[in-house]
Amino acid sequence: MTPADSSRPPTLGVLALQGDVREHRAALEASGARTVAVRRESELAEVDGIVVPGGESTTIEKLLRTFGLFQPLQDAVRGGLPAYGSCAGMILLADRLAGGAPGQATIGGLDVTVRRNAFGRQVDSFETDLVVDGVEDSVERPVHAVFIRAPWVEEVGPGVQVLARVGSGEAAGRIVAVRERDVMATSFHPEITGDLRLHRLFVQIVSERG
Ligand code: GLN
Repeated sequence: MTPADSSRPPTLGVLALQGDVREHRAALEASGARTVAVRRESELAEVDGIVVPGGESTTIEKLLRTFGLFQPLQDAVRGGLPAYGSCAGMILLADRLAGGAPGQATIGGLDVTVRRNAFGRQVDSFETDLVVDGVEDSVERPVHAVFIRAPWVEEVGPGVQVLARVGSGEAAGRIVAVRERDVMATSFHPEITGDLRLHRLFVQIVSERG
C-alpha cells in the first residue's frame, strides 16, 4: 500500500478474478481515480484501495486461493487498506456469514453478519430507489439500486455505520449499505447504472485518508 497524497489521484485496484471488473474500473476512472486490475500479490501491493466486485462469492473465494491472494488480501484489509465490496464483494468483506455454502470463508473487514442470497427466490433480482447516507443529494435524487441474488446485512457491530436500508416492500428496513472506517459495502451494483455517486464516495474515502 502506498500512502495516498492529495496531489495525485488515488490508485484503486479492482479484484479481477470474476464479475463486473470493467464496469467498476470505468466508474472509478470517471470518478477521478487511476485503476489497476488486481490478480496477483504484487498488484495488490501497489494500490491505495481495493474494490471487490459482485459475482459469486464461493467462486471468488476459490479463485482468491488459486491465485494466492486470499491471505494477502485479508492481511491488507485488516491492516487498513480501504475496500469497497458490492454484492458478492459485500459477502467477502463480512466478518460473519449467514446462509453461506458449507465451509465458505470470507476475507472479513466489516464487523457485520451478512446473509447470502437473502432476498429469496421470488425476488432474486429487483430494483429500488434508495437514500444513501454520505451520497450527495440522495434524498432529492435517490440512488437507483439493482439487486441480483443479493445479500443483506443482518447485524452490525457498534463501529459500523448503516448507510442505506430498503425503503418499501417486503424487504423494507433491510440494511443494504454499510461503512466501517474505510471499508464500505453495498448489496447492490452501482457499477451498472451509470450513477457514479457511490464510486465517488469510495474515491473520497481513499483520498481523505492521505
Ligand atoms: N449470490 C451471489 C453470491 O453468493 C452474489 C450475487 C452477486 O454478486 N450479484 O456470491
